[in-house]
Amino acid sequence: MTESVIELRNVTKRFKQKVVLDNLDFTLRRGTVTGLLGKNGAGKTTLLKCALGLLTPQTGEARLLGEPATKLSAAAKNRLGFVPQEVSLYPWMKVRQIAAYTGAFYARWNQGLVERLLKEWELNTDERVGTLSTGQTQKLGIVLALGHEPELLVLDEPVASLDPSARRQFLGTLLDVAMDGNRTVLLSTHITSDLERVADQVAVLKDGKIVYDDELSSLKESVKRLRIVVPTGLPSGLRDLPGILNCQANGTSAVFSLRGFLPELPERLARDWQAQVSVEDLNLEEIFLELHHE
Ligand code: ADP
Repeated sequence: MTESVIELRNVTKRFKQKVVLDNLDFTLRRGTVTGLLGKNGAGKTTLLKCALGLLTPQTGEARLLGEPATKLSAAAKNRLGFVPQEVSLYPWMKVRQIAAYTGAFYARWNQGLVERLLKEWELNTDERVGTLSTGQTQKLGIVLALGHEPELLVLDEPVASLDPSARRQFLGTLLDVAMDGNRTVLLSTHITSDLERVADQVAVLKDGKIVYDDELSSLKESVKRLRIVVPTGLPSGLRDLPGILNCQANGTSAVFSLRGFLPELPERLARDWQAQVSVEDLNLEEIFLELHHE
């Protein structure tokens, strides 16, 4: 049996009275690039920290690389790379010194990869860490997390501090490097367009739970917007359609989105309701907004 990379079962995490993760289940699939998507404050950082054993949930269990997350062995830690949202590194060290210092902690360290990335990402190895911009510090944090070639890489809002035009390109390069080998990557973001081209799986966190977890392509097949016109008047059962998310009706026409779309649905509605039906694909941003109507 292959061990799971990250496994959260019935995880509840509260801060004082505030429930952030609510009896949440999540399994990270090996070999995927999974985007953890949720609004600001949805609990993405909390979920990642519980998964990594940096926070202890009040109830439930978090397992990482087959071990209890809060009791990770040194061997498991060697297989893991984590880049927090705010990377904090010794400010007085020069970039080249911190690379050497970090490398010394690991039995395996790919100095060639580190040097290549520092060059490609235009980080000056003679500059002091304390004088780097936030975006450069985040890039450095990512390089350092890749140096020991971890099989699991967890990134919390990895491009949050980067210039919008560079975000997607940078993410693409990052994931090319990260996926060179049989790696699993979990990255959180509140920006759907970041995931559109780089993730193959998407998990949506909302109200303390994972409300969607599947392939990005399946999500796009599942959530659609439909427009219907029924000249004799809209049927009363419209709002009870299974999976309906958001419906705006106006006399004889309606626009609604639904999840769990089946290709035969338009034909069935056309037949049962004597309706003209058209179906629209949605991009990830639109799907994310529609899922928040539930
Ligand atoms: P996200 O990463 O999705 O933006 P977070 O996990 O950072 O969300 O935060 C989720 C919620 O938990 C927020 O309301 C935040 O204020 C709260 N929270 C996070 N960490 C703490 C903490 N250490 N103490 C109290 N509240 C916290």
